[in-house]
Formats: sequence, structure tokens, C-alpha cells
Amino acid sequence: LNRRLAEFGTTIFAEMSALAVRTGSINLGQGFPDTDGPEEVREAAVRALRDGRGNQYPPGPGVPELRQAVATHQQRRYGLSYDPDTEVLVTAGATEAIAAALLALLEPGDEVVALEPYYDSYAACIAMAGGTRVPVTLRPHEGTDGDGGAVHRRFRLDLDELRDAVTGRTRVLLINTPHNPTGTVLTREELSAIAELAVERDLLVVTDEVYEHLVFDDAEHIPLATFPGMRERTVTIGSAGKTFSFTGWKVGWVTAPAELVGAVRSAKQFLTYVSSGPFQYAVAEALALPDAYFESFRQDLQAKRDLLSEGLAEAGFAVYRPAGTYFVTTDIRPLGESDGFAFCRALPERAGVVAIPNAVFYDHRAAGAPFVRFAFCKQREVLEEAVKRLQHLA
Ligand code: PMP
Ligand code: GLN
Repeated sequence: LNRRLAEFGTTIFAEMSALAVRTGSINLGQGFPDTDGPEEVREAAVRALRDGRGNQYPPGPGVPELRQAVATHQQRRYGLSYDPDTEVLVTAGATEAIAAALLALLEPGDEVVALEPYYDSYAACIAMAGGTRVPVTLRPHEGTDGDGGAVHRRFRLDLDELRDAVTGRTRVLLINTPHNPTGTVLTREELSAIAELAVERDLLVVTDEVYEHLVFDDAEHIPLATFPGMRERTVTIGSAGKTFSFTGWKVGWVTAPAELVGAVRSAKQFLTYVSSGPFQYAVAEALALPDAYFESFRQDLQAKRDLLSEGLAEAGFAVYRPAGTYFVTTDIRPLGESDGFAFCRALPERAGVVAIPNAVFYDHRAAGAPFVRFAFCKQREVLEEAVKRLQHLA
């Protein structure tokens, strides 16, 4: 293994899912739903297979039906207009989109400013592209309702830290909202400040919005590309894995101006060339599902968020109740613990549950040490059982 990759080892998700299987634990580690997406979308995939659509190499940019469906989705949801022929690219999941974007846009030595904790593939892909990552740490923040009421915890972006992280060598801001693993949904004010900085410093922005439909209560997902001066400099990444609960299909996409899509495509053509033929047709149909699908998916997850968040709080964790994604980050210090790695390695033995130590998503490991992430994209009974098992840790 070369020096660029040696520091990354095996991804935490593989390690922890293997641990769950080995110990027969409930796996709230790796984020994948334990219920597949809509029946009619699965039927659409079967039809495509049977009718011989996509069984041979699909077109490099993706099948026209899916490119059109992605463009229509961006227009209908966000008023963003993209030409399906030149400004949309289908990828092998968001994972390939991230890799191809960084490989295409970075020169060796270029700096990428990314929010920390960051999804683990960001660091590895920046390294593979010869870039340098510059993490900006989201800071835990605790507040109360007036009159000493309920405690609210969230992770916040310090805009001064973000500004200070940009240097003459910065080429890309790599943003993720809704944010894995903290569940933070960046606010209009935060996004607006990011946009102003990108315009002022003439930066490219790669924005990972795979959890765009997983936002709760009154939180709103606002794509960065909608802010003034941003459409022309922003590569937006989406994925069917999250929105439709088909993580195994590996259908993702990029929307960006033609020149940027062309650049990402140059890298993509030598990574996978194409992928997921029949599934692309099915995802095109999924994107056209009525609003009721998206709304009921969101409400279902919101109820599960509440179930798990409340159960974890009762068990003694300090809970960062997420505004988006299907992850809840907790602080284990109230349990008398401080090392999330040790805690997660011992948890199958102690409680028959698997979780992810957030420290793996940090360069500043100490900043992430006491945080542990649990996924709630699981059936109600599974979450209830996990909560029951976690009640006697302290
Ligand atoms: N970005 C983030 C923030 C994610 O959480 C994930 C999935 N874990 C991905 C990208 C990868 O998405 P895909 O499965 O579509 O490759
Ligand atoms: N995105 C998922 C998570 O954060 C896992 C994806 C993976 O296993 N690479 O849990």
C-alpha cells in the first residue's frame, strides 16, 4: 500500500459491520436501512432487466431518462435549472461522485477545506488526488429553552474558523449538509456566509447533499447552488441510496455547469466508466414519485429519530438530536466514559449493540474522542430492542 493511502487502513464501516455479525449484535453502526425502498421502484428495476434496458453499458453520462429526472428534481424542488445533456452526470453512488470530483478538480498540493467530522471517504479521496485537507471543526454547543427548560445540543460551524482556514492554496470547499455524522443541517445564514466566502475567494465548492430529503421538524435543506454567485462554481452531489433506501444499487449523480460536469466526467470515465444500468431506469422513476413518498419517508424517520434519541438520553448519553440525516451523535462522558473507540469496541459485549466512534471522522482526534454515532434507519422493533439493551451501561 502506498504512502498516500497507508494512513487510512480499513473503513470503520466494514470493521464495525463485521463486528456486529461476529457478535450477533444489533448494527446501528454503518448507515443502511434494514427495509428496502418502495416496491414499485423495485418493480421498475425488474422491468428494466427483463426488457433489456441497461443490461449492456449505459451511456457514459448516464441514461437520458435518469439525467432528465435529476434535472426535473432540481428544478421542481429548488428552482435550479440544469441541462440534462451537459450539466448532469450519473455516478456509481455519491462515493464515486466525490472521488471523481476531487480527482478532476485538484492539482497536487491544492488545499481542500472540509467540515470536520467528515465522511471518511473525503480524506482518502483528497489524498488520492494529491491534495491536502484542511479541516474546520464543527463545535458542540449546548443551550436551554428559556427558564432552564429542555437542553438542546447541536454542532455549529464557526464562520471565523472557516474564513481563517482559506489560504492562497485553497482550491475547493467540501461541504456536507445535512451533515454525517452530526445530523447538523446548515442554516440559511451559515450557507450564505459559505457562499460569500467562496465567491470572494473564487473557490470551487463540492457539496455533498445526499441527505437532502432527510430533514426534520422545521429544518430546511437549502442547496448551496441556490445562493448568489454559486451555481457557476458548485458541484452538487446526490444519491438514490439515501432518498430511496437502495444503498446497494449505487446510483448517485452530480449537477454542475457543463465545464465542471465535463471535468468530473473525465475522471469518472476511468474509474468505473459506467455502472448500475437497469437501476438507473428505476431511479428515474423513483425521482418522479409523488411528494407524499418523500413526506412519509421523512416522517417515519423523524419518529425513529425521536425513539432512539429519547432512549439514548434515558440510558444516560448526552444526545445531539439531529435536524437531518439518519444518524444521532451522542457524548458518552455522562456515562463516565471518554474514549469512543474503546466504548464502541466494548459495546457488543456490554450491550449487544454496535455504534461508530466519531473520532474516525476527525483529524483532531481528541476533539472527536467522546462522541459516538448511532443509526436509526432501522425498524421500530429493532430500535426498541437496542434502546432496551442500552439502559444499563452506567
Ligand atoms: N456522503 C455521505 C455524507 C454519506 O453518508 C454517504 C453514505 N454513507 C455517501 C456520501 C456515499 O453515498 P453512496 O452510497 O451513494 O455512495
Ligand atoms: N454512509 C454510510 C455511513 O456513514 C456508510 C457507507 C459505507 O459503508 N461506506 O454509515
